[in-house]
Amino acid sequence: MVQGGFLNKKTGKSGHDINIKLPFGTIIFKNNKIFTELKKIGDKVLIVKGGRGGRGNYSFKTKNNTVPRISENGQRGEFAIIDLEPHFIADVGLIGLPNAGKSTLLAKISNANPKIAEYPFTTLVPNLGTVDYMNKRFIVADIPGIIKDAHIGKGLGFDFLRYIKRTKVLVYVIDSNCSISDIYNNYMIVNNELKKYSDCFEKKKKIIVLNKIDLYSIKKRIKLIKKYFRYEKIIKISSINGYGINNLLNEILKKLNKYTECFDYNVSNFDVKEYIYEQEFNVDIDKNGIFIVTGQKIETITEMTNFNEHESLKRYQNILKKIGLDLELKKKGIKIGDTVKICNYEFIFEE
Ligand code: GDP
Ligand code: MG
Repeated sequence: MVQGGFLNKKTGKSGHDINIKLPFGTIIFKNNKIFTELKKIGDKVLIVKGGRGGRGNYSFKTKNNTVPRISENGQRGEFAIIDLEPHFIADVGLIGLPNAGKSTLLAKISNANPKIAEYPFTTLVPNLGTVDYMNKRFIVADIPGIIKDAHIGKGLGFDFLRYIKRTKVLVYVIDSNCSISDIYNNYMIVNNELKKYSDCFEKKKKIIVLNKIDLYSIKKRIKLIKKYFRYEKIIKISSINGYGINNLLNEILKKLNKYTECFDYNVSNFDVKEYIYEQEFNVDIDKNGIFIVTGQKIETITEMTNFNEHESLKRYQNILKKIGLDLELKKKGIKIGDTVKICNYEFIFEE
């Protein structure tokens, strides 16, 4: 916001910029439309432009008019409704069929306190937990509700698939307490759902975890399981007794470190969104025969004019003439004495 000039040689006081720090990846919506995305660390964008400060009479001084009686009001700043959506809800997403032990694992490794039960869908929203490990901190989300045909909306369907998109590393949690073919099939069900939902998952870093290995020895079966999974690395854990947890956390850190390398940008210049050029004005005639003039530029000039000053008013009239409003009004059939409305001001048209 801007204050008007006051005593000698004063101009309107410039308002301060408002800077908001956001995590990179944030998607910015302006008036319900995607405006831009902060793609790189250090990106800076101008979301709404403040109004120009009004000039005091000193700025209007000319050779012929050394004491001008003209000053401007400050321009109103741009108004917009802004929504911010973080791209990443978590660093790590735990995925797997219901009952695989995702919530138990989250509770074991983080500060989160998710619901754990022996029936499916105990977790209805993604639970987030913070993990502190080896002087590093990362966020883990327990993403429930993936079942066969989730990609066409079955179960909790899309709701949770879209959350998975917003993580950096995926951990597949698989219940090992079943036949080898079921272990593999369960993994494939989850994998297929992701594939069918979006091809973005292909590129994500993944870790395959066999949970509940405390239930019975897996030693004899692991070779066979590995054959099924071919060359994919498998980490065996027990979320109950803690077996293999550090191994898993090390693997997560390794993958996360690699991930940030992909975002090692050279941040020298930043994007500033261009403003779209708008026509100076538009003239419509309403049902009462009033000429309604609209347009960002003309509205700005009108708002900034101090109509109490004769010279300001004269300057305003000159600007309108210069941008061709008189001509346009005549083209639309205006007659002397007709009313012209600009912003909240009404004028009587005269030559
Ligand atoms: P989610 O649906 O994947 O979140 O699964 P939960 O974390 O709710 O776990 C389902 C059931 O499996 C619960 O009864 C847990 O106690 C049990 N469970 C989870 N992890 C383990 C594990 O490593 N060993 C054993 N024995 N049981 C587990
Ligand atoms: Mg759960």
